[in-house]
Amino acid sequence: MGQKVKKQVKYADAEACVHCHLCRNHCAFLGKYGIDIGDTERLKELAYHCFLCGRCTEVCPKGIDGRQVILNMRQKEVRENGGRVPEKGYGMLLWEKRDYRFRNEKNIRGKSILFPGCNFPSFFPETTRYLAEILAREAGMGILFDCCGKPVAELGMEDEERRIIRQLDQRLKEKGIEEVVTMCPNCYHFLKGRLSIEVKTVYRKLHELGLGKKIAEKAVIFPPCPDREEKEMLRDICYFLSGEPDVLEGVQCCGLGGCAGVKEPELAGKMPQGLEDSKSFFTYCASCSGSLTRKGYRNASHILPEILGRTERPDVKKSVLNRIKAGCWKEKSYEKRKNMG
Ligand code: SF4
Ligand code: SF4
Repeated sequence: MGQKVKKQVKYADAEACVHCHLCRNHCAFLGKYGIDIGDTERLKELAYHCFLCGRCTEVCPKGIDGRQVILNMRQKEVRENGGRVPEKGYGMLLWEKRDYRFRNEKNIRGKSILFPGCNFPSFFPETTRYLAEILAREAGMGILFDCCGKPVAELGMEDEERRIIRQLDQRLKEKGIEEVVTMCPNCYHFLKGRLSIEVKTVYRKLHELGLGKKIAEKAVIFPPCPDREEKEMLRDICYFLSGEPDVLEGVQCCGLGGCAGVKEPELAGKMPQGLEDSKSFFTYCASCSGSLTRKGYRNASHILPEILGRTERPDVKKSVLNRIKAGCWKEKSYEKRKNMG
């Protein structure tokens, strides 16, 4: 239906596993159960316990993509269960994200839109509005509050994933949108190559428009899971850095990935490990930022407010309320705001 197919990198099958245990030694989940990605029978029973972070893929000497192996298992389970997730605990998530409850199309205008995703407006409502206003003023851009569909796709619901993408693509084209500017690395990697419309990062857009300020000090970066392999969003962020960043390698996910927190609340609460004593660092995923703040990491901050000269910290207390409010937000025209002072 006019959708581009996402480019697939060729990885080895799980049968190629030589049980070197590198994946289990680098993963809190595999380590807890004492299994490797190649232990597929056992892994199948635990498919919804995985954070889909890709750390196992990074370390595997046989080129096995553990994250994809587990996602394939989830998809198979859903197919065999008549399109439904076979495990309990995802009702609220599906209620909210399947046909996004807080979708707001009131502020779509022009040919380019800002697509903040679900989590940035939840944790950084003021920065979201500030950015929407400067992009409206400087580039005539609108804003669409919507969910990209990745949380539903990660549960293994392939048919729902295709429907969400097809309908989003259709809605955008009907409104004449030619460019989607994403703020979240999950939205960026999930939508790029799936939508028939150009998808770019907010950092690239800000750079093109000559907006945003450089960060003077050497940046230390906690890389969000979806950008670890291709580092495309990080490359765009580098426009705003004074030199090459120090990337915190070898860490697992913030604990929110793969909807695994439902099955592994204790593990999720402890992840990521080993950053407690690290010096100040930036994330560029609002989910990581919110999750790390909830866990008491005072040394972590999101890089986008910094680039925009804002000081907003993640609002972890009112994140759900902020998401609901974004669903009702109506931007005042620039002229009206000017008159109001
Ligand atoms: S790292 Fe790769 S080869 Fe080694 S145990 Fe894990 S899946 Fe098997
Ligand atoms: S994707 Fe992450 S959580 Fe899942 S098995 Fe691999 S390293 Fe472990």
